[in-house]
Amino acid sequence: MKFGFDIDDTLINLREHAFHLYNKKLNQNIALEVFHELKTVEIHEAFGMEKEAGNAMWISLLEEIYFTDCPAFEGAIRTLQQLKIDGHEIFYITSRPKKYCMQTREWMKAQGFPVEDEHFFCGMQDDEKIATINDLELDYYFDDKPAVLETLNDVTTKVYIMNQSYNQHVNLPRLYQWSELKEIMK
Ligand SMILES: [Mg+2]
Repeated sequence: MKFGFDIDDTLINLREHAFHLYNKKLNQNIALEVFHELKTVEIHEAFGMEKEAGNAMWISLLEEIYFTDCPAFEGAIRTLQQLKIDGHEIFYITSRPKKYCMQTREWMKAQGFPVEDEHFFCGMQDDEKIATINDLELDYYFDDKPAVLETLNDVTTKVYIMNQSYNQHVNLPRLYQWSELKEIMK
């Protein structure tokens, strides 16, 4: 079968990694509970920042957020490795900016994710992911972001949402842990 995955906050814990970096850069010590209660994909509210300042901060730290030691979610790497061993095809579909695509692909390999270069799709807008998902005729697709998921109502692919505080309103089958994938496939 063909499996498609978003990367950030679906396979890796990027926002929380960024949250720790923000605390360090801003010399603050905002508690992780605040992070877990955020209702937005963006994290700047936790630091009392307005949208504009928040966006500027995110962009200024982007390379550090992307390419340092952001952890994968528990079981994510092992689960995808097992899919590959079992003969499934694995695709990545990320809307990270174009200029970071190659580095992202190599970073994912370095973490231990099974990545084939031609199965790595990157640099599209959130609402453009649907075209790739349809073209690839994926059996399964996993993402966390409401702006993406809301475009996928009519696809034949089985879409799953990675559970996050900001996507509770999205009505789709939900994944809480990567270890649950085995059950889904049964
Ligand atoms: Mg994401």
